[in-house]
Formats: sequence, structure tokens, C-alpha cells
Amino acid sequence: MIEVNQLGKSFGDLVVFRDIQLHIQSREIVVLVGPSGSGKSTLLRCLNGLEEPDAGSIRVGEAAWDASMDAARKKQAIRNIRTLTGMVFQSFNLFPHMTALENVMMAPTLVKKMSRAQAAEIGESLLAKVGLSQKKNEYPSRLSGGQQQRVAIARALAMQPQVMLFDEPTSALDPELTGEVLAVMKQLAAEGMTMIVVTHEMKFAREAANRVIFMSDGKIQEESTPEQFFVQPKTERARKFLRQIE
Ligand code: ADP
Ligand code: MG
Repeated sequence: MIEVNQLGKSFGDLVVFRDIQLHIQSREIVVLVGPSGSGKSTLLRCLNGLEEPDAGSIRVGEAAWDASMDAARKKQAIRNIRTLTGMVFQSFNLFPHMTALENVMMAPTLVKKMSRAQAAEIGESLLAKVGLSQKKNEYPSRLSGGQQQRVAIARALAMQPQVMLFDEPTSALDPELTGEVLAVMKQLAAEGMTMIVVTHEMKFAREAANRVIFMSDGKIQEESTPEQFFVQPKTERARKFLRQIE
């Protein structure tokens, strides 16, 4: 479903990562961990077309981007990749002047030119899926953080992505609200969604991930099953990281 080869990204003199290789199967749940500043968000943003890499290639489903393409083809490739990937951020990023339902309906009506009636139907079923049917007419300011994040997940799903990318989706939430968001993510995983999740929720990683990828110093240092990674990490760098987040 996702194939990344020799991917590189720098900001000016700062090399965030280089030579990233990543192959993810359909229906796979990959948890991406690593120290702060190791490039996890930048990698997700490259996979979603929010950031343009400087080297290598990305394929998501049928959409492919390659550093050697000309500017026009790259632009089209990024547009294609963006429609196939849904992204959920730490900070929810809902539109404050729109209700929960309007937030979910926005991209389908604007980008896919769907009729309002059809978008509303899809929006209501997605809000039901994340357990928020009763809140469809509320504005974000009247929702808890956990509810806002569930709306954000429904909004990302409204574009029918083939892959969902989550960047620390529970980090901004009070501890008692993380469970409801993780439960929605687990349900999505069980339904067969392909997912990459940056998270410090090690319980989620243990229970839901097929694979844990540990990034640091601009590289993928380690790829293991959750059992291996948490019980017997291969590198000293990963052991140190695990001690710090415990
Ligand atoms: P992580 O998500 O693992 O904490 P990030 O991907 O956010 O790491 O950041 C990786 C590095 O790239 C950091 O040193 C960060 O300061 C830098 N960085 C991220 N985005 C930008 C940007 N738009 N411009 C310049 N530097 C950036
Ligand atoms: Mg980050």
C-alpha cells in the first residue's frame, strides 16, 4: 500500500532524514516512535503531501511521487497522494466556525464536489461510527478534546482515504480522554484500515500494531514486532528511548 525508497528531507542545513526505506502492506498497523525532533512528523507530512521531500520516491496506492519528476508531474503526484491519505494531528485542527457535521462534510463537498445531501449522509454515518451522532450540530468549542479528535478522525475518513496517518493523536488530551480516541483507532484497525501512528501510547502499540518502527538520528534504526521492540529492543538507542518514556 505504501512504498518509500531512499527518501530524504532537509530544511536548509538541517538534514531531518535520508535514505528512508519503508514498505507497508494493506491493512497493516505501523506505530512510529522516536525521540522528539527525530523527524516523525516530517515523515508523515511527506507521506501526506504536506511537505515535499528532496530525494527518493513515495508510492501510496496508485499515486507515485519521485524526486526526478518535473515540477508539474510532482505537483499532480502530490495532489493524488493527498486524496489517498487521511491525516489526524495532535491539535485536532477543526474549523471553529463550523459544526461537527459541517467539519466532516467540508472536504467531500469542496474537493469531491459531492452534493450537500450526500455529504451530510456520509457525515452522519461517520459521526455515528465515532460515537458522536448526538453532537453533530455542536461547534468544536462545545466539545471535549476527545470528542473534537473523534470529529477530526471522522473528517479525515470522509475523503475515503486508503491510508490513515495519525501524528500523536492523543498527546494534547487529558489522560481520561485518550481512551475514547484510541478505541476509535482500534476499531478502524480492526476494520482493515492501513495506518501509521506516531504515538507514545505503548499500550496501543502493544495491542494494535503489527510493527513498530523506531526512528532516530535521521534514520530508521529498528523495525520489530511490538513484542520484540518492547521486550528486547535491538539497539542501545532504542533501549535508552524506552527507559525515557516509561
Ligand atoms: P518529531 O515529530 O519526531 O518530533 P519533526 O519531524 O517535527 O520531529 O522535526 C524534525 C526536525 O526538523 C526538528 O529538528 C525540527 O525542528 C525540524 N523542522 C520540522 N519542520 C520544520 C520546518 N518547517 N522548517 C525548519 N525545520 C523544521
Ligand atoms: Mg512530531
